[in-house]
Amino acid sequence: MSIRLYNTLSRRPEELPGPPGPVRMYICGPTVNARAHIGNARPFVLGAWLRSWLRIRGYEVVFVHNITDINDKIYEAAPGASAELAERVTKWYLEDTRAFGLGMPDHLPKASEMVPQIVHFIEQLIEHEYAYAVDGDVYFRVACDPDYGRLSGQRPDHVEEQEPNPLKEDPRDFALWKANKPEEDTWWDSPWGRGRPGWHIECSVMAEELLGPAFEIHGGGLDLVFPHHENEFAQSRALGHEFARIWAHNGILRFTDEKMSKSLGNVVTTDLALEEWGRETLLVYFLTAHWRKPIDFSTETLEAAAARADSFREVFRNPPEPAPAAAWERFAAALDDDFNTPDALAVMHEWRDHELLRRALDVFGLASLAESEEAPDQVVQLAERRQRARSGGDFDEADRLRAEIDATGWEVRDAPDGYRLVRK
Ligand SMILES: [Zn+2]
Repeated sequence: MSIRLYNTLSRRPEELPGPPGPVRMYICGPTVNARAHIGNARPFVLGAWLRSWLRIRGYEVVFVHNITDINDKIYEAAPGASAELAERVTKWYLEDTRAFGLGMPDHLPKASEMVPQIVHFIEQLIEHEYAYAVDGDVYFRVACDPDYGRLSGQRPDHVEEQEPNPLKEDPRDFALWKANKPEEDTWWDSPWGRGRPGWHIECSVMAEELLGPAFEIHGGGLDLVFPHHENEFAQSRALGHEFARIWAHNGILRFTDEKMSKSLGNVVTTDLALEEWGRETLLVYFLTAHWRKPIDFSTETLEAAAARADSFREVFRNPPEPAPAAAWERFAAALDDDFNTPDALAVMHEWRDHELLRRALDVFGLASLAESEEAPDQVVQLAERRQRARSGGDFDEADRLRAEIDATGWEVRDAPDGYRLVRK
């Protein structure tokens, strides 16, 4: 058995070291400037599933998911009150994350809690002449890094300009530390004056503080490859650290349904999506697409996911049938090969073996689909009366009772040994 994951850096699937690993995994979390939309949930969901699968495969896994609570976007969203906004949005993000029922990441570091470590990291970069201070800012010297651009596939001499500032030595240089501006209500003291860290250095430091200078997997959305991850990688490499071995970038979620955007707004927040569709349907929905591919969020794709979730529930309402030989091995092979959840899902849909299906659903936090709900007493009594009416030949009364049961949200189905009650 070996587990492979596609690496953006080498542009091919690569094998993880054998179990027990460890597999140390850092997945970029949200910038807390506004309530997260459902697309922001995808990296977390994938990370939690991968952790779950790797543990089943005998690995020791550490999953770090950061909260970016110091960032230009937060100052812009709440001038003079960015700290309060960041705190409120962080609380929402944690609530939404918990609601998926996949367990929380092992560590949820906040940038604001690691500023001394960040300052120390920047000081080392200056010592190594990979960074320079100008007017209260500190910039990374891109020209020093011959490998800059490799992750995002750009030639080092043709990299796009970032953060324009005429005081920079080179337009490609990016900020490690930014001097405090009048409308920014949070700041920290540093050797370069009052200010706060840049976005990219926050992640380099949070990852290394919790996982060490080399670790197995760095994840995040495909939109983070440049400049965010290119810069993180350059910063850590400049200090001679290997940093991430496999860069795993998930495809973007696209809102493609005009009808839905009219009723719910241009982007659907995670809490609204959970309220509208429920945890189980959303998780099945995420399973339907390969993690590296884009995924469309529309009424159609969500209804299809709801129907799939229902078909799993239906399996548990019916008598089990033994699974074909090597069923679990086929399921496992799909996940081991670049975590192919659509293939794994297709295998699961063939199964009528309750035990096996429950085990597979549990990998994705979906064992709840196997819990067939018990009908309340009052509904059972109606069903019993209907049963007696039927045996007595009073079919009009049986039909009337069926309608009465229907109205309670349950459906009565005839079975060889009597009847079964199923939640509609
Ligand atoms: Zn990051």
